[in-house]
This record gives sequence, structure tokens and C-alpha cells, in this order.
Amino acid sequence: MLPVIALVGRPNVGKSTLFNRLTRSRDALVADLPGLTRDRKYGEGRLGNCDYIVIDTGGISGDEDGIDQRMAEQSLQAIDEANIVLFLVDGRAGLNPADEMIANHLRRQEKECWLVVNKTDGIDPDVAMADFYALGIGQPVPIAASHGRNVTMLMDEVLAPFIVEEDEEAEGEQEHDDSIRIAIVGRPNVGKSTLVNRMLGEDRVVVYDQAGTTRDSIYIPYERDGQDYTLIDTAGVRRRKNIKEAVEKFSIVKTLQAIKDANVVVSVIDAREGVTEQDLSMLGFVIDSGRALVVTLNKWDGMTAEDREHVKTQVERRLEFAGFARFHFISALHGTGVGNLYDSINEAYDCAMAKWSTNQLTKLLEDVVADHQPPAVNNRRIKLRYAHQGGSNPPIIVVHGNQTNALPGSYKRYLENRFIKYLKIKGTPIRFEFRTSD
Ligand code: GDP
Ligand code: GDP
Repeated sequence: MLPVIALVGRPNVGKSTLFNRLTRSRDALVADLPGLTRDRKYGEGRLGNCDYIVIDTGGISGDEDGIDQRMAEQSLQAIDEANIVLFLVDGRAGLNPADEMIANHLRRQEKECWLVVNKTDGIDPDVAMADFYALGIGQPVPIAASHGRNVTMLMDEVLAPFIVEEDEEAEGEQEHDDSIRIAIVGRPNVGKSTLVNRMLGEDRVVVYDQAGTTRDSIYIPYERDGQDYTLIDTAGVRRRKNIKEAVEKFSIVKTLQAIKDANVVVSVIDAREGVTEQDLSMLGFVIDSGRALVVTLNKWDGMTAEDREHVKTQVERRLEFAGFARFHFISALHGTGVGNLYDSINEAYDCAMAKWSTNQLTKLLEDVVADHQPPAVNNRRIKLRYAHQGGSNPPIIVVHGNQTNALPGSYKRYLENRFIKYLKIKGTPIRFEFRTSD
């Protein structure tokens, strides 16, 4: 499961600086879901083959009225959502009463907690750390977030329990059998719970009474037309017992983890509200994660023809970047269009998991290149020699040749479009990697 790391500490100790450093390490993806999280920022980082989520918080100042009170609450929620807490203190300012207050809180939590002494650039780390042993959080780790000093070493240690060896990873994937894992994701109130209930039908559910805290998503295995599915229920539909719980059920961490753990994501957008920034951020995260995708515009019932037209135009304009996916206009409430979702889910899954031989891909590459040659660079033509498959869900096509580093973006898009067309890929992003032999 994707580890979640919360950064907590007083304001100004360097949390945002560390956040930026941790999330920049991965191709500039920051899964920030604005609006929902004005005071908490979510980002994704990567160390080796280990992805993780980082939550940045405004900080706990010890002076908890007004705005500080809100920031403190956000920090406490972030701690609650995380597996690991990095408690930052300022090595130049020394120990502060607010640090002690935070330490008291953390000691009461059963969370793995690291005491990180920041801003140790240009000063003696041992001296900087000396004050902080008194917090009773264990051995302090000195870093300099703004210079990057010791940050990778810290993350190596913090993430060690989550690093999966390559062959273990391969085994893990086989264990996943041939059940299609579907995550239903979307903002609060778009109709996820209603859709989950519709998709399952009341009688098909085999097991859903799983143990787990409200923080975990529920995994619901079921069968439909001879195919096994596992629905990852982020909305907590099958556990909700009262109205109050419904208010708190939405969690970004749960959503991001479900996306990572799914084969196919069903994104739910409220057609009456239109496509919002948060919908776009979530879809961006799905695509960056390489997941197969089906997009639904829900609450299509009872809308005027004019409103429908308006939504369709908006979808075309704003969701062009998700154009590889199938779009469904549905009513989860009445069940209209819900049955058809399965065709798109199955199709997206089959494309995401498809296997092609090196022969087949190389033949295709030759045809595509014959139609339209790559340009010459430094008076030498770029040569693309053969292609093989480097992975699935998302499919990865590895193209070998020479000078591939010089291949223009326009040619890469040409290749991609042709491959998508001839391999009949629908519903999944596809990635190309280029290897050069000179
Ligand atoms: P936050 O309020 O905890 O998020 O703190 P910021 O990340 O905004 O940093 C507060 C100030 O400390 C900024 O002026 C940073 O440039 C500075 N800062 C952060 N990390 C370091 C560091 O490692 N060394 C030094 N010297 N300054 C730092
Ligand atoms: P969630 O927070 O995303 O799980 O959303 P819910 O499934 O709890 O639905 C939020 C509200 O929208 C409820 O009042 C639902 O009855 C309503 N709703 C869900 N789907 C539809 C739909 O297709 N049409 C209409 N009109 N209302 C819907």
C-alpha cells in the first residue's frame, strides 16, 4: 500500500521547503487537490521504485486561536491520515515550547515518528541536535531541506520497510489473479455511493463485511457475467451506518491509494456542477499513475437539453487530455447507463493488460516508420530498429534505435497515435520509452 508521510512542526521550520524537495524528485507531479484542502497539501514522491504520498501542513504554533486553531486541526488530521510522521524542528532556533506541545501529542499517537532537525547547513549538526533529545521522540536526524543535505538518506531509512524487491514485486503481481480491480473516485456528493450500490446490485455481493478502520477503503469481490471484479469502495458505502459518518467519509489519501491500487478507475463527475478543478486534479493523478480510465458524468437525469449541451461542450474542452477514455452520461440514481459501464471497464482492462510480441511490435514500427521517416539530425537519419513491450497497466512500448534522444516531440506523438490506432488501444494511457544504442 502506498505509504503516506505527514510533515508536521511549527510554522517556518521548513516543511514546505522539504515538501517541494520530496515531490519534485518525481517528474514534477504534484497531486494537489485545491479547494478540498486549503490547509493541507498533497504531493506524490518517488524513491527508487517506491512511490509515496506527502502531506504538508500549515503548522502548529502553540497559539491556537483563530487561524492557528484551524492549522493545528489540519495538522492533526494529516497525522491521522499518515503512516509515517516527520516532525520537523528548526536547528538554528533551538527548542521552542510549541515543539514540546507537538511532541506531547505525537508521543500519545501510535504512529511511526521521525524527529528531523532542519536548517543544519553551515552549523555543527551535533550542536544543533543537542537540544532536541529532550523531546523524547528518539534519535534526531539532521538535514538541510533547502540544500537537500541528508534528505535522500533520511528517506531511504524512512521508506526502508516499504521498498519492495524486484522479484517480490513480480510475485505480488501474480497474486493479483484475474480479478479486475475497479476504483470509483470523485469529489464528495457526486454520487459515488449511489453508483457503487448500482454497480454491485444488491444480490451479487459475496463478502463485504470486512474488518478495517474507517480510514481504509473496503475491497468488495464479486462476479458478473463470469468475470471476477473487486470494487474498491472509497466512499465507504457498505459500512456507513449513520448520516454523520457520511460527512467524513471523503479522504484524499484513500482516493489516491485506491487509484494506485486499481486496474481501472471509474471517475465520477457531477454533470450538474460541471467539470471542476478538483475533477481535473484527480484525473491528472489517474493519468500520471498510468491507470485505465472510464469517465462518468452523473446526475444526467432531469437535466434540460440546453444544460446537457453545455456540459458536453465543457467536457470536450476541459477533458481533452483524458480523450483516450470512454465517457458515459449516466444516472446512478435511476440506473440509466450504468450497465454499459462494464463494457468500457472490460475493454479498458483488456487494453491495459494486452500482451504483444516483439515481432508484432517491430513489424508495426517498421510500417509506421516506412510511412513517415524520422528526421535527420547532424546529417544522420534517426533510426528506429525494433520495439518490445516493457510492461502493462499501463502498456509500455520500448523502442530501440540510434539518436533516439534527438527524436522530436511531434514524431513521438505520431508514433503514439499510430500505435494506439493499430493496436486498437482504448481506455488506457500508453507509454513510450526510447533506448539508444549509440
Ligand atoms: P514552513 O512554514 O514550515 O513550511 O517553512 P518554509 O519551508 O516556508 O521555510 C521557512 C524558512 O526557512 C524559509 O525562509 C526557508 O527558505 C528557510 N529554510 C527552509 N529549509 C532551510 C534549510 O535547510 N536551511 C536554511 N538555512 N533555511 C531553510
Ligand atoms: P458520494 O458522496 O459521491 O458517495 O455521493 P452519494 O452517492 O452519497 O450521492 C450524493 C447525493 O446525490 C445523494 O443525495 C444522491 O441521492 C444524489 N445522487 C446520486 N446520483 C444521482 C443521480 O444520478 N441523479 C440525481 N438526481 N441524484 C443523484
